[in-house]
Amino acid sequence: MSKRDYYEVLNVPRNATKEEIKNAYRKLAMQYHPDRNKSPDAEEKFKEISEAYAVLSDDEKRRQYDMFGHAGIGDRYTPEDIFRGVDFDEIFRDLGFGFGGFERIFDLFFGGARPRYEPQRGADLRYDLDITLEQAASGLRTEVEVPRIETCHVCGGSGAKPGTQPRKCPECHGTGQIQYVQTSGFARFVQILTCNRCHGKKTIIDSPCSECRGTGNVQRTRKISVKIPPGIEGETSLRISGGGDVGAQGGRPGDLYVVVHVKPHPIFKRDGPNLYCEVPVSFVLAALGGEMEVPTLDGKAKLKIPPGTQPGTVFRLKGKGMPKLRGFGRGDEFVRIQVRVPTKLTGRQKQLLMELGREMGII
Ligand SMILES: [Zn+2]
Ligand SMILES: [Zn+2]
Repeated sequence: MSKRDYYEVLNVPRNATKEEIKNAYRKLAMQYHPDRNKSPDAEEKFKEISEAYAVLSDDEKRRQYDMFGHAGIGDRYTPEDIFRGVDFDEIFRDLGFGFGGFERIFDLFFGGARPRYEPQRGADLRYDLDITLEQAASGLRTEVEVPRIETCHVCGGSGAKPGTQPRKCPECHGTGQIQYVQTSGFARFVQILTCNRCHGKKTIIDSPCSECRGTGNVQRTRKISVKIPPGIEGETSLRISGGGDVGAQGGRPGDLYVVVHVKPHPIFKRDGPNLYCEVPVSFVLAALGGEMEVPTLDGKAKLKIPPGTQPGTVFRLKGKGMPKLRGFGRGDEFVRIQVRVPTKLTGRQKQLLMELGREMGII
């Protein structure tokens, strides 16, 4: 099957800028990504646009293609090398297809052919996030900066300098193991050891990638978007699947656990969806009744104090508590009245109180 022109595949002019090429690819990837498009020819289409993007997004490969066409690319690059160093990880994550975009592309094109030894899942990471009670009530979307191990973007994880390839280990002939046979009298011992040249990787690298020094991995600090649901309780951990370290040899990436801590609030105590606070009320208002302002998470609210309110009385403000994490609606706010007795009185105030006392027959 003859290949279509890469510019035609991405539907961009030959003088398109890098931005235009990226935007064109993003648009098409959104349409044909196998996670999204289940039609039978979507995968082929997706491979076609991904290959075109891999070539046209790289200055050197694009120049080669412009001069010599498909043959120029085929002569100069191995099929794997065409895809190395391309920012698939970033693009697919931006588009909401999760982590491991590069691995995905590699698997689509080369299946299990990629040199690998035991797949190992990447490490899980933990990030502690402090939020206020107000933020816990409203929920929020925030970004956390997480240092983590990622696939090297220069060599695409092979560890080999771009343009070169890891080669089969000559010591173990690509098996990763060496057999030692010992004979002692009539007994014959076979010992199987990990190859000490490739350390079991089955391949060796002649010219290591300078970015990752041949490891295939680099440490990078990533901004990861976290969505915190309204009503979250303190010490809840949110799992971000695939947000941890990259896996080794095609293993899945680890997860990121964001542990949310809700900071103590100067006014409110919390118990599940309900909030509790204490409010001082002057003894005059408690005796006569009236209206006062009390704090709520949404700002001030008016509270009616009936005449003769006793110290310690608790009033309930329905629906002024925290949102319920599971289910609908909000909890309540409970306001406990502290009756304040004045400690300093003017002469006139004393007189009035004494008059009151005499009137009530208590002094
Ligand atoms: Zn590298
Ligand atoms: Zn070896």
